[in-house]
Order: sequence, then C-alpha cells, then structure tokens
Amino acid sequence: MSIPAPQSWIRATPSGLYCEPGGFHIDPVQTVDRAVITHGHSDHARPGHRRVLATPETIAIMRQRYGESVGASLQRVRYGEKVRVGDVSVRLVPAGHILGSAQVVIDYRGSRVVVSGDYKRRPDPTCAGFEPQHCDLFITQLLSHRKSTSHGDQRRCAKGKCAIEVNVDSLGVALLSLEVCDNRHGGSR
Ligand SMILES: [Zn+2]
Repeated sequence: MSIPAPQSWIRATPSGLYCEPGGFHIDPVQTVDRAVITHGHSDHARPGHRRVLATPETIAIMRQRYGESVGASLQRVRYGEKVRVGDVSVRLVPAGHILGSAQVVIDYRGSRVVVSGDYKRRPDPTCAGFEPQHCDLFITQLLSHRKSTSHGDQRRCAKGKCAIEVNVDSLGVALLSLEVCDNRHGGSR
C-alpha cells in the first residue's frame, strides 16, 4: 500500500483546515461537527462546535470563555496521548505558546502532518515547551508574514538549517513542505 501524500488528505476549506480521513477541522472559523482546537485564544477556539477535542487546559479556557456554548461533546486529550479519530491517529504535543497550547500530530497510513497552531520556541514558565516533531508536512500560521510570502516562496525552516517551500493559501495558512529537506531537528517519530 503506497503512502498517501499529505496534501491529498488535509486541505483548506471555507470552515478551516480539514482532515478528510479523520472527519475533523482544526481551529475552524465556522461551526463544525468535529473540531480539534490547538489552544484557547479566540482566533483559534470558537464556540458552538458539536464535538471538541483539545487539551484539558484548552477546554478549561474555552469553558471559562464560552460557558455552555463550548461544545456539546468534549474530549480532553493530554499531551502525548494517542487517540483514534476516524481513520487517523491524533496526538497533541506542546506548542509552547500559552497554557495548554498544542501542535496536532496526525498520522494516516504512514504519512504524518503536524499542525502547529501558534507556537513559540523560547522557554515560557507558564506552559510546556515547544517539542519539534518529525513530519512530512508542517502546517503553521504565518499571518504576520503574510505580506512577505507568496506561493512557492523559499524560506528557512524553523531552525534555519534548510530551505523550505512556503505556500500561503487564502486562509493565511502556510504549508511548509519539509519533504524537500532533511528534517532531522529533534523529536522522535
Ligand atoms: Zn494564540
């Protein structure tokens, strides 16, 4: 069985980033059936989704902010815990951004995508530190860089060790193709 290209199973939609085999959106901008939320900031965590998967801290922040509108069904997943969602495996790892913030590590038939949400690599005593992950595709948010990036731009990767390709879609989500580089920056697969 061949390994599917990440771009064939995760894509941007009007509601946000959508993982097709998992049947969920990540940080959706519209109300959806199943949402995986990277962290509690309101431009990522919105109310009213039917099912929500996030770290316990993120769900606590959402509950504080939205009360009963946080979501009908809440699934609290701790860092490092692996859960099955549809046909994919999902694991949340620290993003170092705020309390409870997580990168979403998604595995599907030998193909791995990491969605960072907002992240920060310098130490922060208020949250767990960013943990780099090996992956085939790293999707992050470069809204602040939007003016300086365009389709096919070449940038340096997070550790400045290699060139990566950046594609910015209409949602301002950057698809950083790490397939083109030797992505051995730490972490384990
Ligand atoms: Zn944030």
